[in-house]
Amino acid sequence: MNKSQLQQHDREHLLHPFTDFHDLGAQGTRVITSAEGVYINDIDGHRMLDGMSGLWCCNLGYSRREISEAIYEQLNRLPFYNSFFQCTTVPSIELADLLAEVTPAHMNNVFFTGSGSEANDTNLRIIRRYWDLKDQPEKRIVISRKNGYHGSTIAGASLGGMSGMHKQFQALDYIEHIQQPYWFGEGGDMSPDEFGIYAARCLDEKIQELGPEKVAAFIAEPIQGAGGVIIPPQTYWPEVKKVLDQYDILLVMDEVIFGFGRTGEWFGSDYYGMKPDLMTFAKAVTNGYFPLGGTMVGDRVAEVIKSRGGEFTHGYTYSAHPAACMAGLATINILRDEGIIQNVRDNTAPYLAKRWAELADHPIVGEARSLGLVGALELVKDKSSRERFDDKASAGGVCRNMSIKNGLVMRATGDTMIIAPPLILTTEQIDELVEKARRALDDTAKAMA
Ligand SMILES: *Cc1c(COP(=O)(O)O)cnc(C)c1O
Repeated sequence: MNKSQLQQHDREHLLHPFTDFHDLGAQGTRVITSAEGVYINDIDGHRMLDGMSGLWCCNLGYSRREISEAIYEQLNRLPFYNSFFQCTTVPSIELADLLAEVTPAHMNNVFFTGSGSEANDTNLRIIRRYWDLKDQPEKRIVISRKNGYHGSTIAGASLGGMSGMHKQFQALDYIEHIQQPYWFGEGGDMSPDEFGIYAARCLDEKIQELGPEKVAAFIAEPIQGAGGVIIPPQTYWPEVKKVLDQYDILLVMDEVIFGFGRTGEWFGSDYYGMKPDLMTFAKAVTNGYFPLGGTMVGDRVAEVIKSRGGEFTHGYTYSAHPAACMAGLATINILRDEGIIQNVRDNTAPYLAKRWAELADHPIVGEARSLGLVGALELVKDKSSRERFDDKASAGGVCRNMSIKNGLVMRATGDTMIIAPPLILTTEQIDELVEKARRALDDTAKAMA
């Protein structure tokens, strides 16, 4: 099939995630055909620096044969076996071991799933099981944050705080949402540090309002990813820690994006010095080469759910899929043996921070923030008042298209442009990324004028 035939069949038969089917049918899809290193190519031969690592997945880029070969060899040896009924497979044991090693010291057990959404479903099941086994069945409520993202199953979407999603389904009734730590968008006249404390105190207020004896857990991303790379003010996590320490409430860190090196530490929890009871992972665990997710279970929870009798009535056919586990093993071994995460921390993250911050001088940029290898640009009409462009003009959408035209994949969340490039990005490629982003901003400014 040629390009227009492919687009036509796509339009006729394929429903895409998070897509306006009507609009997409009219515009046609971009057919991505190949990739190497940190670049992707479309069917027209247009080459783009992938500033989004696929979808926050391909931290090692697109050319690691160790991973694809590990999958292939496993598929030929034992393509599938389940982990039910007292059975197990060698790759799943080895990956569980390796995860226990690279995750925080108090996390030594893993439950495998096929995705991040499923892993958050699993979290809800474990949380409930834990409190039931502790004879505190009244602890049922899970607190989450507005504009958080935790996946798209009913549990994931209920935990998430995306208002657009909530309009299209009926959320679970035992999840409560609180203020997000988004200073640029919602900090008003407060300084970032004041606002960080305020947002953390909102958790305390909510716990008191509901009654601590009814609250089972608090779930959050270390940094909100899909919500717009919202890096909380420095005061936020230490204050949340203080709040949680006062109450007997589990902490779930959703590390689906920030796990496996994005901050320059192995996990966002390491970066912020948090000690979660459960930790969701997916995406980069296999470098995007094979679907795999899971949740790490901290010792305090594992001791209870492992030592008390009775079946945990939960699991997925593809829990601990052997080929997925081989992909995870190969990926984590590369991250560890090649010092990729240390290189981010010591070299490329500081360099990106310096170069990305230069974009703040652009006339339509209200804030340029970065941490590790993620970044965000807030597009504004007026820099000093932080006034946004008219919603209908979709400055973010315009900038995204300009960026692609200039050979860089940036994503738009509303009028926030975000990047999360592969962790193997070199300093030269950071220069290329920043130059292309600047050109996209120039073109956007012209188009919006
Ligand atoms: C992507 C994402 C999920 C959902 O993962 P899927 O594999 O798409 O189900 C959950 N939490 C966070 C923080 C994510 O970014």
